Amino acid sequence: MISVKDLGFKYQNSKTAALDGVNIEIADGDFVGITGTSGAGKTTFTFALNGIIPQKIKGDFYGSVIIDGKDTVEHHAEEFAQKVGEVFQDIDSQMVASVVEDEILFGLENFGVPHEEIEDRLQKALKELGIEDLRDREISSLSGGQKQKVAIASMLALEPEVIVLDEPTGELDPESSREIFRILTRLNREKGITVVIVEQKIMLLCEYVKHMMVLEKGHVAFYGTPKDMVTSIAKFKELGINVPRVTELSSRLIEEKVYDGEITLTVDDAEKMVRRILG
Ligand code: ADP
Repeated sequence: MISVKDLGFKYQNSKTAALDGVNIEIADGDFVGITGTSGAGKTTFTFALNGIIPQKIKGDFYGSVIIDGKDTVEHHAEEFAQKVGEVFQDIDSQMVASVVEDEILFGLENFGVPHEEIEDRLQKALKELGIEDLRDREISSLSGGQKQKVAIASMLALEPEVIVLDEPTGELDPESSREIFRILTRLNREKGITVVIVEQKIMLLCEYVKHMMVLEKGHVAFYGTPKDMVTSIAKFKELGINVPRVTELSSRLIEEKVYDGEITLTVDDAEKMVRRILG
């Protein structure tokens, strides 16, 4: 479990705080989506989740981040790096090798995984992401979606308990974006891996995550399940975040007593709603 208490952070060369008074508990097995406008503090927050902030990136740090009882200020970042794996926004700069296989091997060797386990872990990670055929490929020749899968596989090979991803779908087309979410959902459900993902596409969050956090100017402006969003539609609009049209529609139909079912978050659910209303 990750417990974030009154977290605040100001970068060394900055006048304003990137995060201020953030409180959130991320339970084991949760799937948390983080959204918010640019500069809201999303990336900074992800860096705080495994000790990169304040250990590697310096600044004024307030409050605490406790990972399974260990305070990120009191323990080396290396102690958390394997447990809480991160895929950064700029994956190209995260990749260290030129060939897929070497990229995954690098992490395994770096973390001192016993030699006899390495091949097995490598194969499993490639299989989990469905990229066995990319094993010998040059990373520079891969598509954006394939690179994301390699980055996730590299992390998965280290058998993390939590995966943190910063806008992995930012440069992907809609179908590849959904594929990443489907893979993460499977890892979350079948392996119990906790997922924390920064994502701008609210429809994807609505469909896949268990909890959503909206950051605004370093504060938590909303935290709840996607369905809870309906209580804050006005607030989302104020923040410039578009609540899915199907959610707004169902909310209005419930208000006007045309429909007595649940809020809809996806187009499929909305279709079912309309069919029910029409009898
Ligand atoms: P987001 O991911 O939501 O776009 P960030 O966490 O990247 O937001 O940034 C939050 C705030 O911190 C912004 O005001 C940004 O300009 C500032 N910031 C981010 N990185 C640095 C840095 N390395 N040095 C100084 N300020 C930074």
